[in-house]
Amino acid sequence: MTTLTFDSLNPATGEVVGSHPKHDARAVHEAVGRAEAATTWWAALPPGERRRRLLDFKAVLTGRLRELAALVHEETGKPVGDATLEIVLAVTHLDWAARNAAKVLGPRRVATGMMGLNLAATLEYLPLGVVGVIGPWNYPVFTPMGSIAYALAAGNAVVFKPSELTPGVGVRLAELFAESVPEQPVLQTVTGLGETGAALAADPRLGKVAFTGSTATAKRVMAACAENLTPLVAECGGKDAFIVDADADLAAAADACLWGAMSNAGQTCAGVERVYVVDSVYEPFLRELSGRAAEVKAGEDYGPITMPAQIDIIRRHIDDATKSGKVVTGGRDSVRAPFVDPVIVEDVPEDSPAVREETFGPTITVRRTRDVQEALELANASAYGLAGTIFSRDARRATRLARAMRTGMTAVNSVISFAGVPALPFGGVGDSGFGRIHGADGLREFTRPKAVSRQR
Ligand code: NAP
Repeated sequence: MTTLTFDSLNPATGEVVGSHPKHDARAVHEAVGRAEAATTWWAALPPGERRRRLLDFKAVLTGRLRELAALVHEETGKPVGDATLEIVLAVTHLDWAARNAAKVLGPRRVATGMMGLNLAATLEYLPLGVVGVIGPWNYPVFTPMGSIAYALAAGNAVVFKPSELTPGVGVRLAELFAESVPEQPVLQTVTGLGETGAALAADPRLGKVAFTGSTATAKRVMAACAENLTPLVAECGGKDAFIVDADADLAAAADACLWGAMSNAGQTCAGVERVYVVDSVYEPFLRELSGRAAEVKAGEDYGPITMPAQIDIIRRHIDDATKSGKVVTGGRDSVRAPFVDPVIVEDVPEDSPAVREETFGPTITVRRTRDVQEALELANASAYGLAGTIFSRDARRATRLARAMRTGMTAVNSVISFAGVPALPFGGVGDSGFGRIHGADGLREFTRPKAVSRQR
């Protein structure tokens, strides 16, 4: 029985935004039960009807853009413009998933003929049933929608557990979905703290868990999934590298680097945290970068740090970096909780926590390298492998480096551009997780391939 509630707070002001139930294991169990019934109905709808409902949901979200952006702003503290952008990107994914599901997943003939067998074979991708989506707070609409939209388009029902910091946004998403699909609870939200997500991950009736959050929590979720052999897609943290080649457009690289590192106050899984610059352009690039960073102010150009505990990690990394390296911009005084101004430190040892661990704040380390090969080796010497960036005018070299970068995604001469492109799969390697969301791979992630062969 659900007996308690918890409040979500505006991280900039400390004001209460909303109060939400702490759904316990029993409430989660009941939600999954309702979802099981709903998925039978949803999966049986003709694909064209599912597509129509999802496009209707898109229209509802677009119509409520301002209202939803205001709520994202209140629960995360990010500027309304940034909140609006993340919803627009989420809607782009919803549109792509809705329009492409039938084409990507529908039945197709498969050529046979092996060893003279005369088989007629078909392959199609069927829904898994109920998908549990567990999401973070940093992009409370965009990030979960990268799983929710694709799982729904593939014919699954979803039980969504938003972060304890952004429960109101999660609840509103399910309410708005119900305006387009009122018949059955195809998308439900359960709210609560760690216990609620744990109960969801442990439910043996789930066809899959789509987790987005920290690597440490992913390991706990994976252990819970292991009990029931529930498949998991895990989108975890990152420590993304940004490489500047000798022939790079330094002004463009500095713009991209700053945006990649500081947007959303650095609270981005695929945010820039480590910068490696080829020796011959090191000084001019650093001048370009620090000149721009000096103009940026927390509270004006980006919002506060949403999660209070994250400020301690950021402070620890700044302390560590400034002790062992040389400050370029900002420093220990840059932390004015809950705001953190940009911090750039050079020559921080590669084995220090500021270089090895995810900071999740507007701070970066910069290092001079002999050449791009050394930059690549340092970039790849991370436990994480979510994304990375290469700035170079040499297209062949950039392509070679991009392929050799140990990441799920690499951007050349831009930054984080893959996240907004629905057709591209999103995900990492190593401590950044496994499985893919977005694109055709993201649709298939929420299905089981079904092969039928018939002897002719
Ligand atoms: P988190 O602390 O790992 O929490 C993520 C979600 O897991 C929350 O909803 C959380 O609920 C829930 N949870 C906590 N303990 C659980 C358990 N034992 N079993 C099941 N669920 C549990 O991460 P966060 O602080 O919200 O988000 C920041 C992290 O997310 C960063 O590391 C960032 O890099 C990563 N991230 C990755 C991506 C990507 O696509 N790769 C995108 C965005 C963010 P409670 O809030 O109630 O504890």
